[in-house]
Amino acid sequence: MAIEISEAQINQIVQSVLKTMPGAEPAKSEQRNWDSTQYEGRTFAGIFTDMNTAIAATQEGYKAVRAMSVEKREKIITEIRRLTRAEAPIMAKLGVEETGMGRVDHKIAKHILVADKTPGTEDIQPTARTGDNGLTLIEMAPFGLVGSITPSTNPSETVICNSIGMIAAGNGVVFNPHPNAIATSNYAVDLVNRASKAAGGPEVLVCSMAKPTMESASIMQSHPLIKLLVCTGGPGVVKAVLSSGKKAIGAGAGNPPVIVDDTADIPKAAKDIIDGCSFDNNLPCIAEKEVFAFDCIADDLIHYMRQNGAYLLSREQTAALEKIVLVEQTGKDGKVRKVINRKCVGRDAAVLMDKIGVKVDSSIRCLICETDFNHLFVQEELMMPILPIVRVHDISEAIDLAVKAEHGNRHTAHMHSKNVDHLTRFARAVETTIFVKNAPSYAGIGFGGEGHATFTIAGPTGEGITSARSFTRQRRCVMADSFHII
Ligand code: NAD
Repeated sequence: MAIEISEAQINQIVQSVLKTMPGAEPAKSEQRNWDSTQYEGRTFAGIFTDMNTAIAATQEGYKAVRAMSVEKREKIITEIRRLTRAEAPIMAKLGVEETGMGRVDHKIAKHILVADKTPGTEDIQPTARTGDNGLTLIEMAPFGLVGSITPSTNPSETVICNSIGMIAAGNGVVFNPHPNAIATSNYAVDLVNRASKAAGGPEVLVCSMAKPTMESASIMQSHPLIKLLVCTGGPGVVKAVLSSGKKAIGAGAGNPPVIVDDTADIPKAAKDIIDGCSFDNNLPCIAEKEVFAFDCIADDLIHYMRQNGAYLLSREQTAALEKIVLVEQTGKDGKVRKVINRKCVGRDAAVLMDKIGVKVDSSIRCLICETDFNHLFVQEELMMPILPIVRVHDISEAIDLAVKAEHGNRHTAHMHSKNVDHLTRFARAVETTIFVKNAPSYAGIGFGGEGHATFTIAGPTGEGITSARSFTRQRRCVMADSFHII
């Protein structure tokens, strides 16, 4: 496994890299024609205009991986890690410019996390069983070709993280990335292919589309060579792949609640929550989305949040912001409902405040407000640095409301408390894949917490914090009556 890197070291790297970059604060949402096939004159390897051709090329990459030693696969992965670390600033900047979402410094940290903490081939471990009837060996085999759908919120991070795990497991992989993040995603696809070539592997190891569409996703889902679908995205796309009739891994939406009780270290809880909630402007699916605070500590919590870069919205400002960040949409059933305004997702707090005519300085990284439980800021997965706080009387009310706000996603939940009974009760009730205690949300994916990293958290299908072994299938090899040598 690659070297560990502390948060302080990451910050140091980020600061020094940003200083050397032209236009360190990029203009967001620039209307540009994003080229998904080249970067600064370098043509990307593995990008196709037709999904069937992409799958045929992926099959060749897969054959090369199958013929490779595990040691060789690991060499390619080592080179992917090296290039990811070296080019993290480019991908972070590209991601922010192309999608208009997130923060360059935080995206750099996310890439370094992927490079250092995504497990490689060491994650694939065989097991053996011996007894009176001989030896049985269980090996973790590749599926074959994996079709991977990736989101706009962590585009290159997900492509690289999935590539490391899927290649370590011996698979081939074709991506159908989010159309709004196609240049960034394909930069990462090319990075993986450059790493493969540099380490003596095939020039085209993984593939992607120049213009991914719902149609190309649909061809991918029904193609006979695709043996496993891995979908990282919102509820619509996860439902689509789970209905495909193929083995599918679904990494879906979350709406992580946070409970803060009266035993918590309030100054620390306030800082941790704002750090987690504002990380990459709240884009990560694990990030804090709404807080349930005991009434007796809520004022203190808000006070310390404000000391850590939070701006407390007035009732009028909250109402004005609601009109901007949520818009009406008519569903297929003809009913009008409010949905998130995609133009506000992942934007800086100052940009959101600007939309309601209020100037705040760049030290403000999160907007907090007091609301009731039914407020849409609590119910909707906003993915913006806006954090509603709901006052509760006791732990029973806190757990009841937090579980309801999580909407049965069973994705992620957080709690700040020193009461073991409270922590245990909430963890049992909410049943999430990730439960973070007394830390920012990102500790749950290995950033300042133990354990490996992933950007594909598969709650609905149960693989959890995916890694190479999630992309394997078990095979059993039996030798009857022999090789039991004791
Ligand atoms: P999204 O759901 O808008 O899109 C994801 C991908 O699916 C895109 O490539 C999109 O083009 C495609 N797509 C959408 N509907 C489809 C369909 N019916 N068939 C085939 N493809 C389809 O995702 P986004 O907005 O980029 O990401 C945000 C969402 O993803 C949030 O809900 C977030 O919680 C979730 N997410 C989950 C994880 C996880 O690990 N569980 C990680 C990142 C994001």
